[in-house]
Amino acid sequence: MADLISLVIPSFNEEENIDNTVNTLKTILDPEDFDYELIFVNDGSSDKTFDKVVDASERDERVKGISFSRNFGKEAAIFAGLQAAVGDACVVIDCDLQHPPALIHEMVAKWREGYEVVEGVKSSRGREGLFHKMCAGLFYRIMSRLIKIDMRSTSDYKLIDRKVVNVLLSLTERNTFFRALTFWVGFKSTKLEYDVEERKFGSTKWSFMSLMKYAINNATSFSTLPLQIVTFLGIVLIFGSVVLGIQTLVRYFMGNAQEGFPTVILLELLIGGFIMLSLGIIGHYLARIYEEVKGRPKYIVREHTKNIKGNI
Ligand code: UDP
Ligand code: MG
Repeated sequence: MADLISLVIPSFNEEENIDNTVNTLKTILDPEDFDYELIFVNDGSSDKTFDKVVDASERDERVKGISFSRNFGKEAAIFAGLQAAVGDACVVIDCDLQHPPALIHEMVAKWREGYEVVEGVKSSRGREGLFHKMCAGLFYRIMSRLIKIDMRSTSDYKLIDRKVVNVLLSLTERNTFFRALTFWVGFKSTKLEYDVEERKFGSTKWSFMSLMKYAINNATSFSTLPLQIVTFLGIVLIFGSVVLGIQTLVRYFMGNAQEGFPTVILLELLIGGFIMLSLGIIGHYLARIYEEVKGRPKYIVREHTKNIKGNI
């Protein structure tokens, strides 16, 4: 029996892309020697994304769709797609085809060689603003340090074997970071480089604020180092105040004590700042624990096409 490859396609307000994406993928995948299914996960779009998916699904059995009750984010969409997938391997790919589908052929070839995770690595980031590029660069440098894996140029475009899919689905945490989790779980992995394509229709779904939120959430879901920084800052401050205290005493005994009003205010500001920063970091982790403890689902499915057999 031919291998079955499941394509997981998170889609948020992509009505202009669905038809083109389905057709392009079909043209590329039909000549291949494996079977495939296209699983579109509509992440609470406010446009006709899901209607387009349902239409496409009626024309072709292999097109499947899941629709969320609201926008839960790309991570949730990826996990819902993996949950619904029944393939021997899954490929996660963006709906706007910025991830070149022609690479799937090589991904599958690598998988057949025995690799369980085939990472798509960006050799260029496509057209992005300088500021965006700098922020992304900084984020990935910090992340690479925190989780001790080189995360630069990584993307969500990857093929993962059924074994890895099952491990990912068995994780109970709610705040997932798919891109880093595939490193964290281990397994035999390799990389394939690709150039990011231009988006043909629609526009990017990320605003500066949503990117910041994504960065902070992912950094804290993978490391507790920020919490330890709090301790470190505290120690530095205590050390600084001991030195300052000694200096003040020495001056006092030498009889040339200065009016210390500005110093006091400066110190107050500094200490206040550090305390607030530290509380903020602790608060953030607390919020994350709170979210996990509540145990709410990652996403809520409102409807799905009839051909979805997996358990979602
Ligand atoms: N996406 C999603 N939920 C969101 C935001 C984005 O499912 O809340 C999907 C989107 O439809 C696309 C992919 O994630 O298929 C990547 O999004 P986008 O192209 O906007 O990001 P960029 O390529 O600009 O990083
Ligand atoms: Mg895109």
